[in-house]
Amino acid sequence: MQELTHYINGEHVKGTSGRFADVFNPATGEVQARVPLASKEEMDAAIAIAKAAQPAWEAVNPQRRARVMMKYVTLLNRDMDKLAEALSREHGKTIPDAKGDVQRGLEVVEYCIGAPQMLKGDFTDSAGPGIDMYSMRQALGVSAGITPFNFPAMIPMWMFAPAIVCGNAFILKSSERAPTVPLMLAELLEEAGLPKGIIQVVNGDKEAVDAILYNDTVQSVGFVGSTPIAEYIYGTGCSQGKRVQCFGGAKNHMIIMPDADLDQAADALIGAGYGAAGERCMAISVAVPVGKETADKLIEKLIPRIESLKVGPYTSGNDVDYGPVVTGAAKENILRLVETGVEQGATLVVDGRDFSLQGYEDGFFVGPHLFDNVTPEMDIYTKEIFGPVLTTVRAESYEEAIQLAMDHEYGNGIAIYTRDGDTARNFANRINVGMVGINVPIPVPLAYHTFGGWKKSVFGDLNQHGPDAFKFYTRTKTVTARWPSGIKEGGEFSIPVME
Ligand code: NAD
Repeated sequence: MQELTHYINGEHVKGTSGRFADVFNPATGEVQARVPLASKEEMDAAIAIAKAAQPAWEAVNPQRRARVMMKYVTLLNRDMDKLAEALSREHGKTIPDAKGDVQRGLEVVEYCIGAPQMLKGDFTDSAGPGIDMYSMRQALGVSAGITPFNFPAMIPMWMFAPAIVCGNAFILKSSERAPTVPLMLAELLEEAGLPKGIIQVVNGDKEAVDAILYNDTVQSVGFVGSTPIAEYIYGTGCSQGKRVQCFGGAKNHMIIMPDADLDQAADALIGAGYGAAGERCMAISVAVPVGKETADKLIEKLIPRIESLKVGPYTSGNDVDYGPVVTGAAKENILRLVETGVEQGATLVVDGRDFSLQGYEDGFFVGPHLFDNVTPEMDIYTKEIFGPVLTTVRAESYEEAIQLAMDHEYGNGIAIYTRDGDTARNFANRINVGMVGINVPIPVPLAYHTFGGWKKSVFGDLNQHGPDAFKFYTRTKTVTARWPSGIKEGGEFSIPVME
């Protein structure tokens, strides 16, 4: 069995803690590797290396730092197939979806090529008599990121690309359930020209996370994962004086108005509800049709679409709509929640409980489920299922539908399907959710906008990527300057260029 490593100071380094976690191939259920879980001492040693390497990197001017990102884009495209294959093998998602995972990260790397522009400061000429005032954005020092299993390429890149291009060193503690791609990403970044010690991947669990949180060198912590851990990391990190941003769980609704194109809405629900086996923080997990007629027609349109979904291993290529869930424990949790739905009185319209795939009986496949007549107090409504389970809560009016979504504790993403501009506008204006789709089921903002939910889906102020990332990974310093008159020296006759 393969033994994975950490990536420290430009080298693949074996773990020394003696503790490991199993890494599965979710399609077969086999353990394909084991990943070392770092001790506090291993994490502290990596952070010390980052601290020593960071000042020289910060001293490299922004244009040259951006050139590393330019080269990185080329290398990510060169290795796209390899990265996608490794990602699918550990995560289970289809190859086209794995490429999307890499691509959405790569787009943030592209955005980071604009670092010289983003890091430009503000200047006020003659703020007082002979006095100029200017603000500059400076790197924090050492930043750290703790990432989830479900986007092993995209989310690490959303964190480390802006952090590094701003002049920081970065410690990545990626998910122990999908650790290979983050290691590959770090190696590629050094191939692109990043000095050793600026990106390091230290694998681990709570012990490694706590070592980050209680290490005084670490100036900022980014986290993406489930809400209870987000809450813990936010509270602990802030109490240690760090800058922290944490993105948590979700329960994304789609409101379907009576005037919506129901075929379009049904197709959107299928992709957004079951794509990646529902293991997306922007997956739609609650359909809210408005009015009985809309609900009946929608369910009628959903059933054949769901029944014809193709579930299988990523190795089956384009014939598969979604793959297995990440672990046996995740599968058990999903099926347990499905049972609570049945027990609590929801109607299980499409029952995927007995799903089994010939030749892959030990894989972590979960058949698609559709619930109707779900009510707000049921566990399948209040909890994040994170599996291929779509729930339907019927609403009698638009007001009831919007209130339902407003009252849910999560507020990551939401969509409305309607042909009426006035309804759409009212909805976008009032809804207390961070990312809103109007006839768009998964409204993930592009790299140059920012990504983030509201309510229990987020802890902190600034969003991920876009201009917020440059704020999160830098500190502002403002200088007020007065100069005595001096002697003017000889001129420079050739135009200055960047070699
Ligand atoms: P998770 O919370 O189990 O793990 C996330 C990270 O936290 C991992 O690196 C893990 O090692 C670490 N961790 C786990 N337990 C810990 C503990 N007790 N103390 C310290 N660290 C700990 O999340 P996951 O299962 O990997 O990912 C799925 C979750 O992530 C879902 O809830 C999903 O909605 C959420 N998610 C949110 C977003 C977003 O942007 N809001 C994006 C992707 C995923």
